[in-house]
Amino acid sequence: MSYADVIIGISHEKVDRPFQYRIPERLEGKLEVGMNVVVPFGRGDTLREGYIIRITDQPDLDVQRIKEVRGLVRGGVTVETKLIRLAEWIHQNYGSTMIQALRCVLPAKQSVKEMIHRKVERTADREALVAALGEASRRKQTAKQKLLEQLLDNPTLPYEWITGKLGVSGATIHSLERAELLTVRTEHAYRNPVGERETDRGRIALDRAQQDIVDEVLGEYDAGKRGTYLIHGITGSGKTEVYMALIEQVVARGKQAIFLIPEIALTYQTLVRFYQRFGDRVSLLNSTLSAGEKYDQCRRARDREIDVIIGPRSALFTPFPQIGLIVIDEEHEGSYKSENTPKYHARETAMEVARLHGASVVLGSATPSLESYYRARQGQYRLFRLTERQNGGKLPQVHIVDLREELKEGNRSIFSRKLVSLLGERLERGEQAMLFLNRRGYAGFLSCRSCGYVVKCPHCDVSLSEHADNRLVCHYCGYEAPKVRVCPQCGSKYISGFRAGTQQIEEKLSELFPRARLLRMDADTTRQKGSYEKILSAFSAGEADVLIGTQMIVKGHDFPAVTLVGIIAADLSLSIGDFRAGERTFQLLTQAAGRAGRGRKPGEVVIQTYQPEHYAVACAAKQDYEAFYREEILYREMLSYPPVSHMLAVQVYAHTEEGGMRLAQRLAGEARLFIDTDKPVERRMLLIGPAPASIGRINDIFRFVFYLKEINYDTLVKVKDALEARLRDWQPRNESVQFDFDPINTM
Ligand code: ADP
Ligand code: ZN
Ligand code: ZN
Repeated sequence: MSYADVIIGISHEKVDRPFQYRIPERLEGKLEVGMNVVVPFGRGDTLREGYIIRITDQPDLDVQRIKEVRGLVRGGVTVETKLIRLAEWIHQNYGSTMIQALRCVLPAKQSVKEMIHRKVERTADREALVAALGEASRRKQTAKQKLLEQLLDNPTLPYEWITGKLGVSGATIHSLERAELLTVRTEHAYRNPVGERETDRGRIALDRAQQDIVDEVLGEYDAGKRGTYLIHGITGSGKTEVYMALIEQVVARGKQAIFLIPEIALTYQTLVRFYQRFGDRVSLLNSTLSAGEKYDQCRRARDREIDVIIGPRSALFTPFPQIGLIVIDEEHEGSYKSENTPKYHARETAMEVARLHGASVVLGSATPSLESYYRARQGQYRLFRLTERQNGGKLPQVHIVDLREELKEGNRSIFSRKLVSLLGERLERGEQAMLFLNRRGYAGFLSCRSCGYVVKCPHCDVSLSEHADNRLVCHYCGYEAPKVRVCPQCGSKYISGFRAGTQQIEEKLSELFPRARLLRMDADTTRQKGSYEKILSAFSAGEADVLIGTQMIVKGHDFPAVTLVGIIAADLSLSIGDFRAGERTFQLLTQAAGRAGRGRKPGEVVIQTYQPEHYAVACAAKQDYEAFYREEILYREMLSYPPVSHMLAVQVYAHTEEGGMRLAQRLAGEARLFIDTDKPVERRMLLIGPAPASIGRINDIFRFVFYLKEINYDTLVKVKDALEARLRDWQPRNESVQFDFDPINTM
């Protein structure tokens, strides 16, 4: 007798454990770990689906009480053993039910479209078919009769059409197959999303710095050493060439590779380069593929028809048999963290995938995340640098404009005089410009337009947010202060939130330059599918003079004709109430500035700001990552923010305000028990909050949050486990709880 431990397909804390079932004789030997099965569940023995995560001969319960597996789910997808291990790790380290973690790693479900590719083919001649038809009609086998009649007219028929429209069962089809009248063929439609391999334009020889990286990584790989490597290299320094060389070498050693890239940065050019190098052995996963296409890619990966997959974070779960290398480009990107439970981070999860497969991990960025750089400095990752642009392009000349000075001199417009004059020059010369507004900063913080002062929380050193009822609130700790009318620093009455959107910029700009052709790219203008690409290609084709946009415009695409980049209010993103604000601002400004002067003509950048002295602004203007890192890590150290410490956000969602606050307080009380008072104060776990989340209510769901800061990640996992156990006991009806480890977005 054998037994299967099954994770039931219901996401609820109460059933978040395996349940054991007996494997009936008819299924003996047919069931494997990872299979999608149907089982009776609960008091009424309702049929549910679930996944087998273990098979054993030893029952854990009284055999009399063990129910039987009913069968396999039709069209269900099997999860590879390594992916089950990975799901367990995600479940443990990020906090979600096991079924949520399994669904997260599961390849896309086989689609109906996919199944249409099973075909029934006539294999006997006419005579044999007619004879069989006569026989079937004598025996009144109407189903056989129907199918044989159809086969006389058609050499091939879609399988699903026979079992669907014609109403003939699979059993009938197979009995005719056994009689050698037909065969069932399974054809997997080949859906290569990019199309044909383009002609090889000849291989680029790596330069010394690039070759050194390849040699070092492969040297360690061949010596049996698996590691994590961080390539810090400005855009255009040749990182992608290094990735491709490494992937090629690992594939030559019989392994597979995953290349992660933020969806928004995945340009057609990058794809073409991979296709030129790897031909049909590379494939792409992204959100525009249908479920059937995604399923195809997973199947091809499993069957070793491809060696390389390119895609966003979910491509990590591609069921390759043996992964040798995972590359994460633009590793600092926030989109590598999942916003839904389980809130996993692709970087950390990649390390676990690598551990399970014996693979190495290569991270690359022009502005590495504080996390990665910190670990590289600590020796956990090996650090490589690429410091020069391959095409010899020069860094642009940067002008910092102090908006406080502009105001002092009577200019109240959103454009500084410098920006207006440089824009005018560009329009006259027929060159292009980009204007960038960081709209993330829209969340109402207060700043003084005369002196740049920002009202901050005295406990958390993040800016306070303006609420409608004249209060200022800290979204980490709940600290409150009345709204100020005059600047506490200089007494000016120009203290307010910065209110300007891309639309206003467009309007003001057309007043200033009525003849300029403008394009705008933001959430409003890119709502339709394909509009993002349309705007970019129109700009690229020179159909507009100025492109105005949010952070969408700073990623990916190259515009050689752009010689001016204007950043409207650099510190907007600096003042949002989030501990990563400085890092995000530095990244955005560096990227935006890097957009100018990609072509032969030198570029200029205007950074407008109220805080020119802020290190994130000053270092971005100098493109000096090291200097930025030194300042930023001090701040993180001082206030125990990641990466120096780990952080767990416990988020409570509730139908009532009182209920939500009460549960948040009870949970915080439980968490407080983990604070070890024997430890010196500076090494103790810190608890901040609970407080209403920055957006305190969405769709009538109230949101509360508290934070734990702790050096040891495993301690936070223990707290999470304890809180989950409490929740199983309490079973709150009108509240739910989510965990977010090392949150990317605390808004
Ligand atoms: P990154 O990924 O760092 O932005 P890429 O690998 O895309 O850089 O390289 C930028 C450009 O320089 C590309 O057009 C690429 O083909 C070219 N390039 C990269 N390495 C070399 C090299 N060793 N010699 C000549 N051109 C190179
Ligand atoms: Zn002031
Ligand atoms: Zn605070």
